[in-house]
Amino acid sequence: MRQATRNSAPAPADLHAHTWYSDGKYAPKKVVETAKKAGIKTIAITDHETVAGIQEAVAAGKDAGVEVVPGIEFSTRVKEVEAHILGLWIDPENPGITEIVKNKRAERARRAEKIVEKLQALKIGIHMDHVKKVVSKGNIGRPHIAQALVNVGAVTEFEEAFRRYIGRHGPAYVARESLSPGDAIDLIHEAKGVAVLAHGLIGGPQREHVKMIADMGLDAVEAVHPKLTESQSKWLSEFAAAHDLAVSGGSDWHGDGWSQGKMGDYFVNAAELQKLLDRKSAYG
Ligand code: AMP
Ligand code: FE
Ligand code: FE
Ligand code: ZN
Repeated sequence: MRQATRNSAPAPADLHAHTWYSDGKYAPKKVVETAKKAGIKTIAITDHETVAGIQEAVAAGKDAGVEVVPGIEFSTRVKEVEAHILGLWIDPENPGITEIVKNKRAERARRAEKIVEKLQALKIGIHMDHVKKVVSKGNIGRPHIAQALVNVGAVTEFEEAFRRYIGRHGPAYVARESLSPGDAIDLIHEAKGVAVLAHGLIGGPQREHVKMIADMGLDAVEAVHPKLTESQSKWLSEFAAAHDLAVSGGSDWHGDGWSQGKMGDYFVNAAELQKLLDRKSAYG
């Protein structure tokens, strides 16, 4: 007898969170425990281009009684616009994933150096050592540089660093070599994961880009996220319903002060979670 995928992951489920293995502030254990305290039953660990935190998170989840979904977040580019794609329930040991993780780590380190050089050219007294002090274990990202800018007194607030210097249109912004969304989606499917467009309509992607990415084989769109307005959320949910896509959601938590949303406030319910798991069953 053929059985539908059984939902072993309980709701509420927060399907987007970062640890210090990318640009989150805290260890996987603390992220999982924070989820537990916030009433979240399933948490996805979706670090930027790394799976280094998954094992620790799974172990912490067993202790805390929280289901941990192994995930990843890829930055991709389509038509000069940056779109983030989440892989949920991926096999972290898949060779395609391992390879990209290795390459991206090196590329991020090189790019951080370029950003620091641009900041120095703007007469800011910042060095890679200041940045390295902020990076615990992780894949270096702009949030680390933002915190280093706070630490050296170049700005007073984390957000201000993005506004004045390293945001998309800032004078010290450096773009990254990005995958195409289609490549990221294929990679996620090869690793038996579900591909989700993270915070579509935020940071560049317009409706036309969401449509384009959906046609590349996406499984779901994230319609619950702290940066989405109510009307963006509504549009994304309706888009999902009209295009036979599942809906995902999460806090995109990076730790206190490094996040917009609070853990516990952004999640999907049991029915939505089941639809995502049904997608998963297509990839083995
Ligand atoms: P990167 O992957 O190095 O380009 O950095 C992107 C990350 O920076 C995002 O995932 C967020 O964590 C953070 N970020 C981007 N823009 C902002 C902003 N305006 N304010 C705060 N954090 C931001
Ligand atoms: Fe981030
Ligand atoms: Fe993102
Ligand atoms: Zn994220």
